[in-house]
Amino acid sequence: MRVILLIVWLLAFATSFVRAEEPPRELTPERRLHRVTFTDVKSVTRSVEARVLLEAQDGGLLLEARDGRLWNVTPKQRQQHETTDELFRPLKAEELGEQLSREVAELGITTPTQIVVTKHYVICSTAGRKYAEWCGSLFERLHDAFQAYWKAAGLELREPEFPLPAIVLKDHAQFTEFATKHDRPDAAQSPGYFSEPTNRIILFDLTAGPNSAPAQTASDIQRKIAASPFNVATTVHEATHQIAFNSGLHTRYADNPRWLTEGMAMFFEVPDLDSRSGWKTIGRVNAPRRKEFRETFRSPRESISLAELIRADDSFLQPNKARAAYAESWALTYFLLKTRSDDVVLYLKTIQLKPRLIADLPDVRLREFEAAFGETEILEREWKKWMATH
Ligand SMILES: [Zn+2]
Repeated sequence: MRVILLIVWLLAFATSFVRAEEPPRELTPERRLHRVTFTDVKSVTRSVEARVLLEAQDGGLLLEARDGRLWNVTPKQRQQHETTDELFRPLKAEELGEQLSREVAELGITTPTQIVVTKHYVICSTAGRKYAEWCGSLFERLHDAFQAYWKAAGLELREPEFPLPAIVLKDHAQFTEFATKHDRPDAAQSPGYFSEPTNRIILFDLTAGPNSAPAQTASDIQRKIAASPFNVATTVHEATHQIAFNSGLHTRYADNPRWLTEGMAMFFEVPDLDSRSGWKTIGRVNAPRRKEFRETFRSPRESISLAELIRADDSFLQPNKARAAYAESWALTYFLLKTRSDDVVLYLKTIQLKPRLIADLPDVRLREFEAAFGETEILEREWKKWMATH
C-alpha cells in the first residue's frame, strides 16, 4: 500500500509539473471541482463538492471539500463521481458560516448560533457575539504573530487558502455533547481540540460558570479569562495547530512527527491577552511545561529517550508516557528554536515535503532528524544540560 501510494503521489506530482507549463486557465487535476456521493463511516450518505488530492490505484479517493474537510472514500463507499469542468473554490466565509450553523443545529443543539467573520476566521458561536469577537481578535493576533515569527526565522509560509472555521460552544456541557456526537468521545475530555479531518477548532466559553451570566464586555471577558490560564493556553494551543496546518508549516494527513506538531503548539501556546500590542510572549518559557519536563525527566518510569521520541509517536498514546512525551516535545522544540533556529528551518523544509497518507519508518524519522541536528546521543546530552539552566 505504501509503495502504491508513493507511485500514485509521484504520478500526481509529475502531472502537475507538466501541466504547470500550460495556460493558467487550464483546469489542472488539483484545481478541478468534483461532485462525489458516498457513504461515510457512520453509514450516512454524503454528497460533497471537492477536489481530489489523491487517487489510489484501487479507486480510493482522498478528497478536500469546499469547507476544507478531508474525506477518505474507499471504492466500496463511493456511489457517484462526477468530474466537472468547473474550478474548485473554497467556500466563502458567509457560506461556511451557514454550513457550520446547520451542522450545530443538526446535532440537536438548540441554542441559536451567531456567526462572526474576521479576516481569516469564521466563528460559529452559541456563546454569544461578544465572546466570539474576543476569540476572533485573539486568533487574528496569534495568526499574524505566528507568520511574523517564521518570516523572521527565514521560513516563508502561505496565507490560509480556506477561511479557518472555529466552533465556540456556550459551556462545557454543550462542548462535550458536540465532541461526542461529532468527533470522538475522548475529545470531550479536553478543554478544546483541533480536528485534522474537519480543519476546525472546537472550543467553549471559558468565562461561562454554572452561576454566572455570560460576559458582556471585552474587559469583563479579559478579567474572567485571566482567572483560567491553563484553559486559555489550550485555546491558543489548538488555534496554533490550525494555523500551522493551514499555513503550510505542516500538511494534514502527511506523516508529521508528533513531537514536532505538539512541540510547536506548546511553543506558541503562551498566551498574550493584551490586545493593544503584538504577541509579546512568543519564545517565552512555558512554565507549566517546564515544570512537567523537570518532573518527568527525573522519573525513570516516565522519561523517554530522545531517540524514542523521534522514532515514533507511540508514547503520546501510552497513559504512563504521555505526560513526558508532551513535556519533552515542548522542551526539545524550545531548545532547538533557541539554539539551532536555522537547523529547525531546514528540518521543517524536509517535513513540509512529506506526501499525504504515507507513514515513515522509525529509522527514516531518526535519519532525517540526525541529518538536521546531528547524532541524537550527543544532542540529548547538550539539550538536557541546557534545559537545567533555562
Ligand atoms: Zn496539541
